[in-house]
This record gives sequence, structure tokens and C-alpha cells, in this order.
Amino acid sequence: MVIGKPLLTVEQIQKKVKELAAIISEDYEGKEILAVGILRGAFIFFSDLVRHIQVPMNIDFIIASSYIKIQTSGDIKIHADLREDIKAKHVLLIEDIVDSGLTLKYIQEMLLARNPASLRTCTFLDKKSRRKTELKLDYIGFEIPDFYIVGYGLDYDNKFRNLPYISVFKEST
Ligand code: 5GP
Repeated sequence: MVIGKPLLTVEQIQKKVKELAAIISEDYEGKEILAVGILRGAFIFFSDLVRHIQVPMNIDFIIASSYIKIQTSGDIKIHADLREDIKAKHVLLIEDIVDSGLTLKYIQEMLLARNPASLRTCTFLDKKSRRKTELKLDYIGFEIPDFYIVGYGLDYDNKFRNLPYISVFKEST
């Protein structure tokens, strides 16, 4: 297993998080947000982002999975659902990375069926070239090429989530 040099450094990540939070704070001025993190990958981005958002908020989480090692299974599993009722609330979904888009599409449709006042989605990373479905993304940190990446919450086989930066991962042969 090989971890390459940072694709995104700690400084680049933190600058982008602050920029996203500033835009979100402006867009939601006068409203209260229900910030929904998609675990496990988004846990670090979620906690960094919410600390810079300047409007009142409540938080909740969904635990979902679709990846086995480095291949998406396309079979989305919800391991834990929200505790909050989202009806008439302004829901901001917070995701680490969008690849095929199938996970987010599934979660967006699941939440829209519960009649929130609004539903917007913020993803830190977007591998747009890999998209397999139409998807509405409202806030995007970085668009990245088709690499499998680890760090800043993202794993390979549940490892490397604690790297403070984002790196390209390669399985050694
Ligand atoms: P999608 O359903 O969009 O194909 O996949 C979304 C999920 O797959 C993400 O939430 C993330 O957990 C995982 N994923 C997608 N691309 C990568 C990647 O490059 N690295 C890691 N560690 N996980 C990824």
C-alpha cells in the first residue's frame, strides 16, 4: 500500500472549509439549519465546517456505506438513520466525496420524501468524471481527478482516516 504526497494540504483544506462556511452562512442568513453529516467519511469535514458556519444549527447523522475496499458496490446501505424529524426544516447534507453519486442520490431522495422546508447538499470533494446519475450539488469544495484518495476522514479498509491532509492511495502490486 502506498500513500503519495498530499493532493490537498492542510492549508488548502482549511482555506476551502472557511470559504464554504462563509457562503453557506450568507445563504442561510435568518434561518436555522439542520446539518446532516454522512458518516463515516464526512466526520472530519463536518466538524470543521460547522465550526465556521455563523447561523444557528442543530446536527444529526446518517451512517451509510456503499464502498468495499476501493470499488463502489452500488448497493447503498443505511446503517443508522436520523434521530431528528426533518419536516419543515432547512436540511444541509454534508458529504465527504461524491463519486458515482449513487449514495447521495439515494439519501437525497430518502430525505426529500420526509418534506423538509429545503434540502441542500455540500460535498468537500467531487469526482465529477465518475458520475453515474444526475445529482444536485449546491456547495462543492474541490473537483478532483479520478484517483482513490485517503485522509481527512476518508479511508482505505477503514485506515488512514486520521491523516490531516488528502493523498492519492495506490494498492501495491
Ligand atoms: P458514490 O456513491 O458517489 O459512488 O460514493 C460515495 C462514497 O464512496 C463516499 O461517501 C465515500 O465514502 C466513498 N468514496 C468515493 N470515492 C472515494 C475515494 O476516492 N476514497 C475514499 N476513501 N472513499 C471514496
